[in-house]
Amino acid sequence: MKSLWNEAEAARYKGELAQRVYSSRLLGADTSLVLHGGGNTSVKIKEKNLVGEEEEILYVKGSGWDLATIEEAGFSPVRMGHLLLLAKLPSLSDREMVKELKTQMTRPSAPSPSVETILHATLPYKYVDHTHADAVVTVTNTANGIERVQEIYGDQVVIIPYVMPGFDLARFCAEKFAAEATERTIGMLLMNHGIFSFGATARESYERMISLVSLTEEYLKGHGAWNKSQPKVAVEDKPVRHTLASLRLEVSEAAGFPAIVTMHNDRRTLAFVGRQDLGEISQQGPATPDHVIRTKRLPLVGRDVQGYVEAYFAYFAEYNPTAKENKTMLDPAPRVILDSELGMCAIGRNAKAAAIVADIYHHTMDVIEGATALGGYQALLGKDIFDIEYWELEQAKLRKGGTPPMFTGEVALVTGAASGIGKACVDALLQRGAAVVGLDINPAIAELHKRPDFCGITCDVTDEQAIAAALEQAVRAFGGLDMLILNAGIFPLGCPSTLCQLKNGER
Ligand SMILES: [Zn+2]
Repeated sequence: MKSLWNEAEAARYKGELAQRVYSSRLLGADTSLVLHGGGNTSVKIKEKNLVGEEEEILYVKGSGWDLATIEEAGFSPVRMGHLLLLAKLPSLSDREMVKELKTQMTRPSAPSPSVETILHATLPYKYVDHTHADAVVTVTNTANGIERVQEIYGDQVVIIPYVMPGFDLARFCAEKFAAEATERTIGMLLMNHGIFSFGATARESYERMISLVSLTEEYLKGHGAWNKSQPKVAVEDKPVRHTLASLRLEVSEAAGFPAIVTMHNDRRTLAFVGRQDLGEISQQGPATPDHVIRTKRLPLVGRDVQGYVEAYFAYFAEYNPTAKENKTMLDPAPRVILDSELGMCAIGRNAKAAAIVADIYHHTMDVIEGATALGGYQALLGKDIFDIEYWELEQAKLRKGGTPPMFTGEVALVTGAASGIGKACVDALLQRGAAVVGLDINPAIAELHKRPDFCGITCDVTDEQAIAAALEQAVRAFGGLDMLILNAGIFPLGCPSTLCQLKNGER
C-alpha cells in the first residue's frame, strides 16, 4: 500500500480542517481501507467563540458522509471539554450519548457526529484516522489473531480486544491507551474491527495509517495469504435471466418489498463460490461488524431462500432475549447469495444499496480467503454481530433517507431511451426511485447516465436476438423487469423465451 499524499495537491487545502478533508479523501479513495461510509476521521482545533473564549473543538466525521467525498460541512464540530468529561462517566446509554453529543455541537445544522466521537476525543493527538482495512481484519479474524498482530506491530500499537462500538468501547480504549501507550505508539488496533492511527499533522496521521496497514499486507504476503491475482476460472455465459428473475421474486416476497438483485460472475467471484469449503468459510460472519447492516450476518449459499428465512428467524429468536431491550425483527431476506452458477448476487432496496452490498462482499471474499490461508477465518460470535445489526445507532444510518420514492426496488425498461420522450421517461422513472434499463439503437445510450440505478444498452429493437441479449443483460443488472415503456413503437412480443416467461418471474 502506497501513500497517495501529494504535497502540491495538499497545499491547496488551507487550514487544519481543510487538511483533514484532504487526507480523509485519500483514505476514502482506497476501497481496501474503507468502504461506503465506513471508517471515520477527526481533527481537534482551537477556536474563539462569539463571546471571545477559546475552545477546543473536535471536528469528527458526521454520519451519512463518505470519506471519499467528504467536505468541511461533513464534519460535526463538538466541544472537546464536554467530551472528555463524558468519557470519565462510569456508563452512558446510547440515547444519552447521542443527546449529549448533539447538545455540544457548535453548529446545529451539522450532521450527527460519528458513534465513535468520544473515542476520537480521548486519543491525545490532533489528527486521528480510523479504517477497517482489509489486511487488518484479515489477520484479526483468525483464531490466534492477537499473537499475529503482536508479532507484526510490537509496541507500535495498543491492542484492544473486541468491544462493541459506542461509549463502552471509548471508555475502555481511553483507559487501556493511557496505561499502555509509549512514545513508540503510533496507532491502536481493534480486534475484529479495524485500526486507528494518529499524528500532529494530517499527513503524519495518514502516512502512519498507510505504514501500519502495509506492515500487515507484507505479513500476509509472507504467509501466502494475500492473493490479488485473477484466478483462471472459465466464465460460462449461458442465459440465466429466468433463474435470476424467479430468485428475485422469492427474495422480494421474503423481504416484503421489491428488491434489486445484481449479479456478479467475474472470475474472482466464481473461483470463490466454486470452493469446496464455501459452505464453511462463508458462514462465519462479516469482516467488520458494521458491514452487517448492509450484508446481514451470513450470505445464502445456493438458492433455498425459504431455508435462509427460517434460519434468520432462528438467529433472531436466539439472540433477541439477550439484547438490552426487545427488538423488532428486520426482514429475513438474504442480502448476498452465493451460487455456483450465478456467482454472487447482491440484494438491496434500491440499486445503490445493492451496489454497496456487492462492493462489501467483494472485499469480504479477499478477507475470508486471506484468513483461511492463514489457518482459518474466524469472525465475531453471532451475538456480537446481532448487537450491531439491531443497534439503533446503526439502524438510524439506514433510515436516514426518509420515505422511499414510489418505485423503489422496481425495474423499468424503456425503449428508444436515448432522446426525446424515451429519455424523459427514463428521467421520470429514476426520479421516482425505479432502476431503469434504457434501450436504444444509438450507442450514446450507454453513457446517458453514470449511476448505479441506470443501465444503458445499445439495441436494435427490431432484432429479436438483440432483444434477447439485452434482456439478459438487463436482468443481470437488476434481477428482473417490472415495467415496460415501449416508446420506440416496436417490441416483438413473439420474441422467444423473453417476456412471457419473464412475467412468471415478475412481482
Ligand atoms: Zn470502526
